[in-house]
Amino acid sequence: MIESSLIGYSRGELGNETFQATNPATGENLITEYCSASEDEVGRACELAKLASLSMAALSGGDKAKFLGSLADRIDQSIEEIVVIMTAETGLPEARVRAETGRTRSQLLMFANLLEEGSWVDARIDRALPDRQPMPKPDLRAMLRPIGPVAVFCASNFPLAFSVAGGDSASAWAAGCPVIVKAHHAHPGTALLIGKLVVQSVQECGLPEGTFSLIFGSGRTIGQAIVKNPVVKAVGFTGSRSGGRALFDLAASRSEPIPVFAEMSSINPIFLLPDLRKEEMEKIAEGLQISATMGVGQFCTNPGVVFYPDNEIGESFRTSYLDRMKGSDGGVMLHQGILESYNSCTREMSEREGVEELTSGDESLVPSGCGASPCVLGTKIERFLNEPELSNEIFGPATLLVSYSQKEDILNVAKQLEGQLTVSLFGNEKNLAEHDNLLDILETKAGRLLFNQFPTGVEVCSSIVHGGPYPATTDSRSTSVGTGAILRFARPVCYQGFPDEFLPQELQEDNPLGLDREEG
Ligand code: NAP
Repeated sequence: MIESSLIGYSRGELGNETFQATNPATGENLITEYCSASEDEVGRACELAKLASLSMAALSGGDKAKFLGSLADRIDQSIEEIVVIMTAETGLPEARVRAETGRTRSQLLMFANLLEEGSWVDARIDRALPDRQPMPKPDLRAMLRPIGPVAVFCASNFPLAFSVAGGDSASAWAAGCPVIVKAHHAHPGTALLIGKLVVQSVQECGLPEGTFSLIFGSGRTIGQAIVKNPVVKAVGFTGSRSGGRALFDLAASRSEPIPVFAEMSSINPIFLLPDLRKEEMEKIAEGLQISATMGVGQFCTNPGVVFYPDNEIGESFRTSYLDRMKGSDGGVMLHQGILESYNSCTREMSEREGVEELTSGDESLVPSGCGASPCVLGTKIERFLNEPELSNEIFGPATLLVSYSQKEDILNVAKQLEGQLTVSLFGNEKNLAEHDNLLDILETKAGRLLFNQFPTGVEVCSSIVHGGPYPATTDSRSTSVGTGAILRFARPVCYQGFPDEFLPQELQEDNPLGLDREEG
């Protein structure tokens, strides 16, 4: 069987360049072949998106909410099909697939609710003061409007929640933007299944054809062709630092540069502050093992580096963590490329002078196919501070344990850290008070700071921040999870001096939509 891209309502050509997904649990190729789109097809998808832009921008919040709700229902009704194809393409356990389906559905509904309420448009009204001296003040009204067509790159590690109808697409549609999705080569069948549901909902809700296209093909050719197309006005991406950076540079080099919201790499450091008690260390070791091995470590918020005090209590943490990791199950990684990168990064780091491999899990528990086992490495703070390579992300169930002896060590690490999605502190209130400028420094380094909690298990809600300074993302002002994600795909427009009936309803004098507005 051969499948092709979805260009609006039509199917792409059956060209010669095809690829297949591989079951990472067995190493076998799955039978369906997928044709890469041609550059012409990318051009057609972009033209359709351009045509759709104006009518999508004119949709009411209720119209967009109806579309998102319809898609959420379709995804819910297709869960059994999703389970079959996604487990085969990703090696993820059924429970995770079901949970991610639920998350994808609830993300769509979260944006639908936001649109129904409507105040996200941040309406601001400054009424005219014709008698103001020395100059009259004009009537000024501003609100957020859609940025235009958005290119979305599916993430390998969230085949639903950050792929075809995931957080990037949902927030772009919610903002009123058409979406052109570049499928990930590792899970094309999951992408196509969801893509067909999107097309059905687009048609059912009477949205324009260019609301959505799904493109198969290599990132370096087809993915880049999408980003280069002048119709595209923003990019959403989750993946490697090299991929995100390449797209960011490409977008910046266009004659019209556009924003790229790439979520890339983060080691999510954990600091165990000095006064923790032995029982607390035991609990931390237990929680850390769960967090570091969850999803075979393939979460953006996986805790990769832990700083612990070089004393008897710190040693008890280290011993307890190692005991747990030694007996940890391995797991199947998402694709061969990720497994190879994990193995080579752990090997490279363990071969560095002053770095010790403390355990590489129990080989007998490693599954076949793309099976990987957890890895714990150890080093001392002086080495960590002097070797920037030790701060590189290892994507997978690897932890670097770093012992420190002085309070200043923690501050020095904090000052030196690259941008992170999260930083976690474990300690008590006395520790926090003693390290008060630590929080000030860390606030400049991460999108989310945690106290006595682990970073995995990202809550999808209004106050979540899933972002951070580079290289965690390419735009530290943004979040890719939660309602705030919509702001990436909207831009402020000010209307000066317009008669009421020509203003968007959100800005009209009698506030027909009943929005929360800033009025002066
Ligand atoms: P990836 O290699 O960055 O690929 C993600 C998407 O970007 C794919 O569609 C890929 O196209 C495309 N792409 C990659 N490089 C590109 C380039 N130079 N120009 C245009 N498009 C490009 O990520 P991955 O496959 O998910 O995993 C590989 C590594 O990424 C992992 O080992 C890990 O280190 C990292 N990763 C990090 C996170 C995180 O959240 N921190 C999440 C996932 C992965 P193709 O389909 O053609 O490859």
